[in-house]
Amino acid sequence: MSTRVRFAPSPTGYLHVGGARTALFNWLYARHVGGKFLLRIEDTDKQRSTDEHTRVILDGLSWLGLDWDEEPVFQGARVQRHQEVADKLLAAGQAYLEDGAIRFRLPPGEIAWDDAVHGPISFQGEDIKDFVILRSDRTPIYNFAVVVDDVDMAITHVLRGDDHISNTPKQIALYRALGAALPVFGHVPMIHGPDGKKLSKRHGATAVGDYQHMGILPAAMRNFLALLGWSPGGDREIMKLDEMVQLFAFEGIQKKPAIFDMTKLEWMNGQYLSMATAEELYPLVSPQLAQLGLNGNKDAVLKAIAGVKTRSRTTLDVAKQVAVRLDAKFVAFDDKAKKEIAKDPAGYKASLEASVAVLRKTDWTPEALEKTLRALADEKAVAAGKIFQPIRIALTGGTVSEPVNELLYVVGKEAALKRLQAAVTESTG
Ligand code: GLU
Repeated sequence: MSTRVRFAPSPTGYLHVGGARTALFNWLYARHVGGKFLLRIEDTDKQRSTDEHTRVILDGLSWLGLDWDEEPVFQGARVQRHQEVADKLLAAGQAYLEDGAIRFRLPPGEIAWDDAVHGPISFQGEDIKDFVILRSDRTPIYNFAVVVDDVDMAITHVLRGDDHISNTPKQIALYRALGAALPVFGHVPMIHGPDGKKLSKRHGATAVGDYQHMGILPAAMRNFLALLGWSPGGDREIMKLDEMVQLFAFEGIQKKPAIFDMTKLEWMNGQYLSMATAEELYPLVSPQLAQLGLNGNKDAVLKAIAGVKTRSRTTLDVAKQVAVRLDAKFVAFDDKAKKEIAKDPAGYKASLEASVAVLRKTDWTPEALEKTLRALADEKAVAAGKIFQPIRIALTGGTVSEPVNELLYVVGKEAALKRLQAAVTESTG
């Protein structure tokens, strides 16, 4: 039988980190074995489910590159089928009527499964009460709808959050009553914040869309999510998508909760930003630049992106730094820069003046700029940093950047000289 897995979100909220991670694990497994990854929108809670949430969830999956096979199934459209199966169980005496509702008769005896993540898990039927499967208004209960749908969709592996472990014995009892073959069940660990508590808004953004807007790259988010509760072994962290597909296995899923670490996500995003080309980042950065109020010419923007991408954590970070390089109005002096100037204002000014003098006569290539400034440092018998750092501060308002010769090159001759000259004049006043 070919492998069929599903992601079954309830569209009562946005696609959150935990859901996305569960979707990713299912997707990776399907792609690993060459099976199908299906979607089922569990919209039976008509009050809380919205089309908007469904759309955002599907968009989030698409953003992460998780494509699905076959048309999504909407659970709410299958209520008749749920009723039909409940009536069948009623007619067979496996369920009974009570106050107009249909209640499933839970048979005694052991209910056990070999969980793909946790290993053998077992419950006793005697400990589980008979439960309603169809309410008196003939709407299905979650545990029942899920089983009817999973059977009809021929799902072979149910991989979902740990919070569903207590539902599984009830669902297995229903599979048995329906005479359906059991899927493999696997329960993936919950995601906690750094304080060890279940991930929530208190820890920061929990919706996948927030990370998109923050300037996290989808490939970085995907890589990060994959490592929330799964490890390919060794200390591998940065993995291409096809490597993850190749390496993904249930054996690598951990039992204990995974910790969501924002610093690590930003670090990982930085790695992806470094690996991406300026051309690849351009479509992501340019709308953010527009939002900041800068419509730079494409070549200049590309050059600036290339200069700053290795020193950025998000595309928003990239955009802000690009803006600083392309337009002086975005330069704002940070505390460290102010402190450095304050240490020796006269030295700062003198160094800039000397630099401006030699830079006027320099070819504007990174190589020539480097040579000119080093020669100036030699001539003055000072460390190169004494020449470089004032330029960096005057051009960016900060104390860290790409190498100063590259920075000058990106800013451009005319603009750079103007900014440096202005810095000299200002520090005189
Ligand atoms: N709609 C359920 C949820 O979002 C799905 C549970 C399952 O995968 O069976 O938790």
